[in-house]
Amino acid sequence: MKKSDMKFIVQLHPKDIILLIAVLTKTKPIASLVVPLKIEEWLKKFCSRNDIFIQEDGPRDSFQTRVSVSLYPEKLHLKRELDSFRYFLNKKAQQVPEWKNLVKGLVWVEGAMYDYPECCIKLHAEEGPSSRARAYEQLLSSGRDQSVPIEFWAFAHAPCSSTCIKTLELGRKYLDSLNEFSDVLKEHIESRLLLPRFYQTGGGRFIELKQLSYQKHQQKLMVSKEKFEKEARAHLPEPVQTLLCKVPRPYVLISATEKPPYKMAFPNPEMMGTMWLAFAPGYGAYMVNAQNSQLALYITSDKWLPIVGEKWKSESNYRIYKSKR
Ligand SMILES: [Zn+2]
Repeated sequence: MKKSDMKFIVQLHPKDIILLIAVLTKTKPIASLVVPLKIEEWLKKFCSRNDIFIQEDGPRDSFQTRVSVSLYPEKLHLKRELDSFRYFLNKKAQQVPEWKNLVKGLVWVEGAMYDYPECCIKLHAEEGPSSRARAYEQLLSSGRDQSVPIEFWAFAHAPCSSTCIKTLELGRKYLDSLNEFSDVLKEHIESRLLLPRFYQTGGGRFIELKQLSYQKHQQKLMVSKEKFEKEARAHLPEPVQTLLCKVPRPYVLISATEKPPYKMAFPNPEMMGTMWLAFAPGYGAYMVNAQNSQLALYITSDKWLPIVGEKWKSESNYRIYKSKR
């Protein structure tokens, strides 16, 4: 890979780099990526140079847009048609329940298009997006939440379980497709996948973080450990865990109108940088920029669930998951 491309590609989220390379190496038929706006033009050129077709699916906001990429233009056409058909079906299903069967059928068609494992398509079709939490609950209950295999972060779909063989094989296949591409890029991706992840939900709402030593960084911080811990305990119920960390650009960024004292958009642009993070596992989180004391996140289940629905409630939320190679 050219050095000039490296500079740009590493601005994609590691998972999206994996999916892009999987498409390029014919390991994956089609992929949907989140693209930071500042590398959008580069990505178009990169795709054109590599005979990859690209189409914007949106929505586009002030941070990113969503695109699909494939070596086969008919797949992109199918994706576009399915997106508008889904919109039509969802509206129908609200009025006449029978249409819900077709909504499930559509999940199967989309799953087949992306080449997802049948066991995973089945769970997603039957139980919807919130079923993603199941795999995380299994990681927790079996004590594997601090040693998640790296493959688990390398695929795009919602896995039917934390041990789904087909899913882990797919993740391995995508990671291996990096071997023939670039050692430097592979090293970059694996080091990012090995960072601990703080989850709001087992879906796409997560941030990666690199834990920092307080002793080493103490001098440069505006917010001391003592001050933050006191503040965090005033906002969250025990048991509260706290850590100092560096947060790189998350998978997506969200901005929303906030209702103080809460700041619930997750992950939001204020979360990047040197952060104090406190969380009550399964319940909520409180995060402050350690260098300028700006509030980055304050969210609790009892504020959040009434907005998104009880189905998203899970013990696996608001926790740190760690990986191993
Ligand atoms: Zn599965």
